[in-house]
Amino acid sequence: MNLLDGKLVSAKIKEDIKNEASAFTAKSGRKPHLVAILVGNDGGSETYVASKMRNCELVGFESTNIRYHVDVTEDELIAKIKEINQDPNIDGLIVQLPLPKHIDPEKITETIDHRKDVDGFHPINLGRMQRNLPCFIPATPYGIMLMLEHYGIDTAGKKAVVVGRSNIVGSPMSILLARNSNPGNCTVTLTHSRTANLKEEVLAADIIVAAIGRKHFVTADMVKEDAIVIDVGINREESTETKSGFKLYGDVDFEEVSKKSSWITPVPGGVGLMTIVGLLKNTLEAAKGTVYPK
Ligand code: NDP
Repeated sequence: MNLLDGKLVSAKIKEDIKNEASAFTAKSGRKPHLVAILVGNDGGSETYVASKMRNCELVGFESTNIRYHVDVTEDELIAKIKEINQDPNIDGLIVQLPLPKHIDPEKITETIDHRKDVDGFHPINLGRMQRNLPCFIPATPYGIMLMLEHYGIDTAGKKAVVVGRSNIVGSPMSILLARNSNPGNCTVTLTHSRTANLKEEVLAADIIVAAIGRKHFVTADMVKEDAIVIDVGINREESTETKSGFKLYGDVDFEEVSKKSSWITPVPGGVGLMTIVGLLKNTLEAAKGTVYPK
């Protein structure tokens, strides 16, 4: 078993981003700037946003966290997004999901200027990704592709099975793995809760991407010998063993599956760290205007 080590790869790529950010700042007189909007006080979202902000500081970006009470209206939020869209000193904007039920996430996503949509959720970015055009790629699939690239994993011709079809992880992941690029060129099967014979589908995979949201859903009997296993799941459970009061589990039973896999990502220390890298890279590209010229 070889570890796809998110700690190691993210540290290396962040060092490169830091150097590029410093060159950008020297040239433009300002730092790349990411704004994150957080509504309410969901524990997971708080942790993710705090980590994104901390990582921005680490690589020399400016970061602003705008917080709203859970009762904020959709109109108020939209007005703020429109204001940020117009601000030339802000390069990237993310609105942390999930949002409270009275706010339509589609409407919010489409209000963000696609040129500042560093989460890559806007339909223009998703459409451009599908067509292999310059765009912001959703941070988690982007991070996974960077990880595969870092380890020089040859994915061409492999059978990839993605479990989970969400707009932010599973679906874009399936598109990227099928694209005519490297990494990519896989034969992809996208599975979900209505898939018949899921176990057989996963067992046939050379590459498994698990993005379900259920602790240890993928067990060793579902994985063929030498498969490459990417675990996206972050399942939080309360725990007295940790200082934070909770423990994270992946969607893959790491202990058993790692005995069969050729490569595998741990949780924590895998895809989560690479997601941050994807976001930072998108923000830097937004500042530099490499994806959408300014
Ligand atoms: P969603 O809940 O949006 O999607 C889950 C997907 O899993 C759905 O497509 C669903 O199918 C499918 N699914 C659920 N149960 C089953 C089942 N029994 N068999 C087959 N498929 C099933 O989740 P996300 O994609 O947003 O997130 C998935 C996981 O990844 C979560 O644990 C989340 O916390 C984590 N995550 C981690 C990130 C990171 O940085 N590491 C970033 C984003 C998410 P259906 O469509 O039919 O309902």
